[in-house]
Formats: sequence, structure tokens, C-alpha cells
Amino acid sequence: MSEDKKTQKSALQVNPGIEAPPIVNPYAMENLRKKRRKLLSVDEYCDGILSGNRTILSQAITLIESSLPEHNVLSRDIIERCLPYSGKSIRIGITGVPGVGKSTFIEALGNEITRQNHTLAVLAIDPSSERSKGSILGDKTRMETLSVNDKAFIRPSPSAGSLGGVARKTRETIILVEAAGFDTIFVETVGVGQSETAVHSMVDFFLLLMLAGAGDELQGIKRGIMEMADALVINKADGENINKAMMAKTQYNSALQLFPPSPSGWKPRAMTASALQTTGIKELWETISEYISKVNGNNYFDTKRKEQSKFWMHETINESLRNAFYQNQDTANNIKVLEQKLLDNKISPFAAARQLLNEHNTRTNS
Ligand code: GDP
Repeated sequence: MSEDKKTQKSALQVNPGIEAPPIVNPYAMENLRKKRRKLLSVDEYCDGILSGNRTILSQAITLIESSLPEHNVLSRDIIERCLPYSGKSIRIGITGVPGVGKSTFIEALGNEITRQNHTLAVLAIDPSSERSKGSILGDKTRMETLSVNDKAFIRPSPSAGSLGGVARKTRETIILVEAAGFDTIFVETVGVGQSETAVHSMVDFFLLLMLAGAGDELQGIKRGIMEMADALVINKADGENINKAMMAKTQYNSALQLFPPSPSGWKPRAMTASALQTTGIKELWETISEYISKVNGNNYFDTKRKEQSKFWMHETINESLRNAFYQNQDTANNIKVLEQKLLDNKISPFAAARQLLNEHNTRTNS
């Protein structure tokens, strides 16, 4: 497989080491450059998406990821038009530290559920290109069989901009893939930071992959992330690792008992699996199905989705306000001046912030 193909197939893509993250998703740019096709009309995009045309779906996602204003206007219209057809999938978040086996696991679970006639879209939020400016996962061929599975659609992470921006784009992409008819969505993220919270706020079920024998500290798993999980899966429960994995499962199950009860009424559980040998995969899917029927029964499913919609409205407002402020050239110049004043002890941080906000408001209101 060529290098180019390899990178295209990865859902959780990391950029090579570069100083500043690009403003535009590089895949989007590549697609735009390669095709430079004329933009379609909103009707054409929507008809294509609703009829399950993957090429048009991909192009529309590229518009969401683009930073060009004309693309954003178009993508907003497409999202609004697709919205009534969205919402019908089961959204599952999958996290875990690099090396825990996320892509192998997604491949195993993805192939299992597509065998059961589900259709699957795999999306990702990958903040690591911004955080580490380098690749921890980039050189691997990932999800080889799933990427040629015709019931699955894998989309690399939009890697541009702030975590908030990247997460919003993934949140919007969910609407399009749902309108295209995918009934199950995986949103993958690297378990190293705040991206879990963003993923948790866009999924129905949150799955944390772990390893036996590595302390929580070692796995970088914070208690808060464990508290978000609806299931913990101890992966690599195979070969000599089986006993350790079983022990870890017992320990985690007792630890989970100590967490406060969830408003969903669901008791999170720890399980073992081997993504490589595809054991424990069916059981996990049964657990997810059990969860979904429970939260459908007690209405928590809808309540949570409504809460998430509110959350995304506020996130989008915050992101827009922040962008409008920081991307304004006059404001950017003023910030430099005020920063220097701050360093010279001529102004307090609070007064500097107030002055910048006031000047920005006056400028944008005039
Ligand atoms: P990711 O970085 O979390 O996406 O992890 P990968 O899926 O790329 O897996 C990292 C390594 O662990 C690879 O060498 C996999 O073959 C291996 N691996 C993944 N799942 C299992 C498993 O269930 N058992 C064993 N023994 N190895 C696994």
C-alpha cells in the first residue's frame, strides 16, 4: 500500500512534526487541490448525502472542515437541511492511551457489527497534532479490513485548530453521516487529555480501553475519565496476559462500585477482550445494546441528547466569540501592546482584559 493510501485510511491521523498546526485540515486541502471541482448546490449535496453517496458525503465533510467562509456558509446550510434526517444512530465514544489497541478494537467491533447488518461511520478527534506536534500513531496502517468494508465509512480527524474547533467539526460531521444513513457511529480519541470530555459530550455510550498491569498513572487515565465511562474494556486479554486481565477486571469492577450512581441508572462495568483474537467483542456489543435499551426505556437517552445539544450551542457560541476576538487584526495588535504593559507592571491583567474587550466591542459595534 502506498504511503498516501495509508494516511487516507487512518481515522485518527497525526500530522508529521511541524511547528504550527495548519489552519485547514490538510486532507481537506489535498482534496480541494486535487479536485478543484466546482461546488455543488445545497440541494445537490443534500440529495447526495441522503441517498448515501459517499463521494458527496466526503465532499460535504470537507466543507465543514474548511476554513474558507464560502465553504462554511454552504456547510451550515447543508447541516441545517440534513438535521431532520439525523439523530437516529447509536453514537459510541472510544478512548484509551496510544498502544492500548483502539484501532485493532474498532476494526474487530466494526467488522462484528457490520456482520450483523449495521452500517458504521468511524470518526475521530485527534488533538495530538496540536499538543505534541508530532506523530505517535502516524506511521501505522490502521483498520485495514474495516477500510475496505463496504458497510463502513472511515473519516480521518479534522486536525486543524483548537480542540474546541476540531470537536465541533466532528459533532457536525455526525449529523451528515447520520443523514447518509449510518446507524452506528464510533468517535475515537487518544486518551491523553481533554478530548475525552469533548467526545463524551457527543456520544450515547462511552468506552474506555485499558491494559492490565499498567497502573492508572501509567495509562494516563484520570479518575474523571473513568467516571465518564459506561464500560471499561481491558484489552489484550490473550496469551499470558489473560490472568492479569481477569484480575484487573475484578479490581476495576470493585473500583466502579465506589463511583456515584449515574443518572442513567446504568452501572458501568469492566470487561475483558482481545481485539486481536476477537474475543469479548460480541459480549461488549451485547452490553452496549443492553445499555441502549435501558436508557431508551427510562428516557435518559433523549434527555442526554438534549443536554448535549445545549452544550454544543454554548460551545459554538464560545468558539465563535473567541475566534472573532483573537482573529481581529486590530485586537491582535492591541494584545501585544497590553502584554508589554503587563510585563512592565503598568496595568493589571484584569484591567488589560477589560480594556481589550471594551476596545474590541467598540470596534465591532461601530
Ligand atoms: P492504538 O494505538 O490504541 O490504536 O493501538 P493499535 O490498535 O494500533 O494496537 C497497538 C498494538 O497492540 C499493535 O501492535 C496491535 O497488534 C496490538 N494489539 C491490539 N489489540 C491487541 C490484543 O487484543 N491483543 C494483543 N496481544 N495485542 C493487541
